Amino acid sequence: MNIALFGPPGAGKGTQAKELSKHYKIPHISTGDILRANVRDATELGLKAKEYMDKGELVPDDVLIGLIRNRLTEPDCEMGYLLDGYPRTIPQADALTDILAEINKPLDAVINIEVSDEELVKRLSGRRSCSCGESYHLMFNPPEKEGVCDACGSGLYQRDDDGEEVILQRLAVYNEKTKPLIDYYGNEGLLVNINGAGAVDEVFRDICNVMDQHK
Ligand code: ADP
Ligand code: AMP
Repeated sequence: MNIALFGPPGAGKGTQAKELSKHYKIPHISTGDILRANVRDATELGLKAKEYMDKGELVPDDVLIGLIRNRLTEPDCEMGYLLDGYPRTIPQADALTDILAEINKPLDAVINIEVSDEELVKRLSGRRSCSCGESYHLMFNPPEKEGVCDACGSGLYQRDDDGEEVILQRLAVYNEKTKPLIDYYGNEGLLVNINGAGAVDEVFRDICNVMDQHK
């Protein structure tokens, strides 16, 4: 099953992808997670990416295209993949089409999680993250013990790009550079819209209904 989860920052892509990856046993490929791991490890890529990420800008296409090519050619993608946060521009989508043709794993569907701007701001400003990859929300999905990850017991933190000013910039960048991909994949007949406003398990069920058609 070859799926891209699409939607604005805060739509719930990471939350859903984590569960979907377990359910369908396909790797969750989050370019944001890969970039943050590089920032944490202070790699050359991480140092370059951080400048853009902290400002709510997109990391340049050539960097992302190289990164996704390397990741998609790893052996765990043999059974399929679940993309989260890639592609975010038309050049990234064009490059993805070429890479997927080379490895003979074309997309089955692009699942667009739709959430209002007002709700996105609430979700992003209340998000609390853990270095193990788990993420919580102060009100909508709080951890059992305040400030502590249920999964690994580490302290939770607020992402540098989840402050109010950067959130607004990220939403503006989404509208300008990423949203045009809705028409792009609509024209390819791959786009499926999902209402992302409901509870996590409701959205999960709706996405499974789409993915089950591609098993
Ligand atoms: P994305 O990966 O699309 O940026 P996340 O999955 O990190 O978004 O979700 C953003 C925030 O919203 C997190 O704090 C998450 O716990 C919360 N969240 C995700 N899905 C829902 C939902 N259906 N209802 C309420 N809060 C949600
Ligand atoms: P995310 O975790 O998906 O919210 O991504 C966090 C940040 O990483 C984004 O605001 C960008 O700066 C960067 N990023 C992640 N994926 C991409 C991508 N496909 N293209 C460009 N920048 C990206």
